[in-house]
Amino acid sequence: MTPEEKPREHKQVIYRFKALLKSGSHILDSKDIQRIKEAYKLAADVHKDMRRSSGEPYLFHPVAVARIVLEEIGLGATSVIAALLHDTTRFGGLPLSEVEARFGSEVAGIVAGLNRIAAINHSKDTDQSENYRNLIISISEDIRVILIKLADRLEIMRSLNHFSKEQQVAKARETFNLYAPLAHKLGLYKVKSEMEDLSMKFTENEAYKSIIKKLKNTTAARNKFIREFMEPIEARLQGQEVDFEIKGRTKSVYSIWKKIQKQNVPFEKIYDVFAIRIILDTPLEKEKNDCWRIYSAVTDEYTPNPSRLRDWISVPKSSGYESLHTTVVGPDGRWVEVQIRSKRMDDIAERGLAAHWRYKGIRQEAGIDEWLSQIRNIIETPDISPEELVNSFKLNLQNQEIFIFTPTGDLKKLPLNATVLDFAFEIHSQVGYHCVGAKVNQKNATIREVLKNGDLVEIITSKNQKPKKDWLNFVVTSKAKSKIKQSLKENELQVANYGKEMLARRLKNWKITLDDTTSAKLIKHFKLKDATDLYSSIFHEKIEMSTIKAVLLDEKQPEVHDTVEPQKRVVERKTTKFDDYLIIDEKLDQVDYRLAKCCNPIPGDAIFGFVTIGEGIKIHRETCPNANRLREKYGYRVMRAKWREETESGAFLVTIKIVGFDELGMVSNISEIVSKEMKLNMRAIAIESKGNNFVGTLKVLIEHTSQLGNLLNRLQKIKGVQRAIRVNR
Ligand code: MN
Repeated sequence: MTPEEKPREHKQVIYRFKALLKSGSHILDSKDIQRIKEAYKLAADVHKDMRRSSGEPYLFHPVAVARIVLEEIGLGATSVIAALLHDTTRFGGLPLSEVEARFGSEVAGIVAGLNRIAAINHSKDTDQSENYRNLIISISEDIRVILIKLADRLEIMRSLNHFSKEQQVAKARETFNLYAPLAHKLGLYKVKSEMEDLSMKFTENEAYKSIIKKLKNTTAARNKFIREFMEPIEARLQGQEVDFEIKGRTKSVYSIWKKIQKQNVPFEKIYDVFAIRIILDTPLEKEKNDCWRIYSAVTDEYTPNPSRLRDWISVPKSSGYESLHTTVVGPDGRWVEVQIRSKRMDDIAERGLAAHWRYKGIRQEAGIDEWLSQIRNIIETPDISPEELVNSFKLNLQNQEIFIFTPTGDLKKLPLNATVLDFAFEIHSQVGYHCVGAKVNQKNATIREVLKNGDLVEIITSKNQKPKKDWLNFVVTSKAKSKIKQSLKENELQVANYGKEMLARRLKNWKITLDDTTSAKLIKHFKLKDATDLYSSIFHEKIEMSTIKAVLLDEKQPEVHDTVEPQKRVVERKTTKFDDYLIIDEKLDQVDYRLAKCCNPIPGDAIFGFVTIGEGIKIHRETCPNANRLREKYGYRVMRAKWREETESGAFLVTIKIVGFDELGMVSNISEIVSKEMKLNMRAIAIESKGNNFVGTLKVLIEHTSQLGNLLNRLQKIKGVQRAIRVNR
């Protein structure tokens, strides 16, 4: 360095420091300024012989960081002092105790936190997750540490030209992967965008330069467009007392580049390289109202795309971001994004959290607090692997959450891709267990339906519903997952208990006791895991009682039947024992069949079996309305069937329709015949008058068709009855 250079550099540093003080003149008092000057002197002294890789005095760096902290992040005097001193103990060899003695424990604590992050970052053999961990711990200690760290990194990125190529790429990558998302989460959108752009500049230089150039070339056209766009709106707002300014905001280079790549189109085809921002100067109590007034002026003039309306005024993002966004068809037929917000909202949007603090008392910082406590919980969970930590952190960083309304107007926050079922569990685990669907914005939806931000969801429950294994495949919240798992486990134990009872009862008939030897024998034979597995297999009828009997009584039974499909089992029976027929008998527990609901067959009816997918065999009447269709379409699945002759099975519920003239005492006449004369079990009777006529519905338990024929005959003989017929329901 030549002797002339020194005073010139000194002047430059003084100039920059004065600019720093000036930019904070509206928030710093004389005492603050005094302390800041003192910190500056100490830093100047410690760094006096140090230079940056660019050759500039090192002091440029802490002064620039302090200015970002003050001006762009909006922090106060303590943070400015900590920023000025942030490298004095690490590089300058100043003891931390001296910082503490002269500037207090608050400043010293922040400086110590910054040193800790810096030390970790520069150690080569730590992985990224370790960096995350330390960063986040420092956030939980004092959020100013991370805010100053972000300012520090932003300043380095702005000066990165002077670093070696290798360092440039390394810093750019780290900034992109770690600091930009962090800035985003903290609501520092401007810092985040600049970090992304600068990272791109050093990793994708060609693309970066080309987009910068194209943006420059289109500036004039853009400004003209904005003027034309706003003219009619300003005319509409004339006379209304709203004070606003308009800005054309181009998107960040990086986000334009991302669009170009994602949509695989040239720059010229990206319609939303810029947004129009309308910023209102309006008092707090009027801001919502005024924002919506501007919104109507805009959408009265230009047609909006309703799916692109983003209302972060009613429900701010968890980072505190408040704004009203809409996309409308502009004068030339192209989509234009319009952002409407108050000055206060704009301040928060640009400067994030710190600006939030300045408006403290106006709005709760619930979102950030919640996020920080989530992060703290993750860190405090022992044995969490580094990968898991990074993943959970990334997940949290993406800020992808949706807000769902309950019918009573409550708001629930859920992660992106949350389903109706997740929401049900969010309300209460009992609601989750019994959820069968929902009304989403008044429309029916399944439990699997993925919810969208702002949906109004009313859960529908049924007491017969219970958690199913496949639910785990589509729920996303950990609450729903753990509750379902827990319930399945409990259910399995209960099912096993029933199964055990079933087995014990059977064994008693065969005069075998159910003890460890017996169960061990069965577990071995059926190749099962344990007793629970055995009992639940019995409950679910995966194991046939006859096979169990054979195994235990040592009869010949070589096959393992544990997982045979129900329909296959029956097919075997039919071909071996019963020739061509499937014999239906309620008492035969080896046969898995059900009576079809569409025609409710009863013993004596002509019937056939139909092999269903997953529900075993269904027995239909030959006269079933579905019979022809089933035979035509699925002939190969139709099986001949008949009732076992000597059936003394239980009764079947038959519905009978009676039509006649309205006759007094009809109900008692009918029940007389059914209950007293025929001694049948009547389950329901309903008579509906229609003028002089009536239509009656009767549900009776019948054991055989012969009984039914008899009953119908008798009913038709009642005075006033025209017809009595069996119906299919
Ligand atoms: Mn630094």
